[in-house]
Amino acid sequence: MYRKSETPKIFCMKQLPILDESLYDLLSKAGEATDAPKVQKGGIPKSHVPAWMRWTLQVTLVPFIWMDVITQKIAKKIIRPPFKKQGKCKRRGNCCHYILIRADKGIISRFFVFFCTQVYGFFLRDTHPHEYEGKQMLVMGCRYLKKDGSCSHYHLRPTICRQWPIIESFAYPQILKGCGYRSDPPFVENNYKENPLHIIQD
Ligand code: SF4
Repeated sequence: MYRKSETPKIFCMKQLPILDESLYDLLSKAGEATDAPKVQKGGIPKSHVPAWMRWTLQVTLVPFIWMDVITQKIAKKIIRPPFKKQGKCKRRGNCCHYILIRADKGIISRFFVFFCTQVYGFFLRDTHPHEYEGKQMLVMGCRYLKKDGSCSHYHLRPTICRQWPIIESFAYPQILKGCGYRSDPPFVENNYKENPLHIIQD
């Protein structure tokens, strides 16, 4: 975990209050939550990039996102993951309330965080990264999530949203508890508290 003085500078609009919960507690809460998390003090930070520019960039990126998605599908046909995704989204919105974005110190990582918060609809819930499976992660929410749990930018959403829940060839399934998806065969993490994303059949 970074000490505060070592926290990498990230391109955020303003400093937000530090979440007083550990990441594991937050993710456990995300699995169980029936209501949206409280809006942080000061409200949801606004993007500084004009709406027309955000929209143009998002539309421009759609073909590349599709190429990425198709490439991943082909890769999964060649190397079949040991688990299959089953079920469907219950539109609880919890996976969009607690999005984990890698926060390295490198320029590419910083640019990605900037892009997520300024061009895509994400906003930082906490300016300080948390350690998760040995990686530094930022917790973000999304401005595009509607009250009914649906996405107001569904066709323009980024790759990270299209990949979720994650079923990979060489990793355990990552499915948020209670979301409506499940893995086949079932995968149950022994210790939910240790890793609330390695879920979990309802
Ligand atoms: S863009 Fe849509 S799918 Fe992605 S986090 Fe926001 S509301 Fe959820």
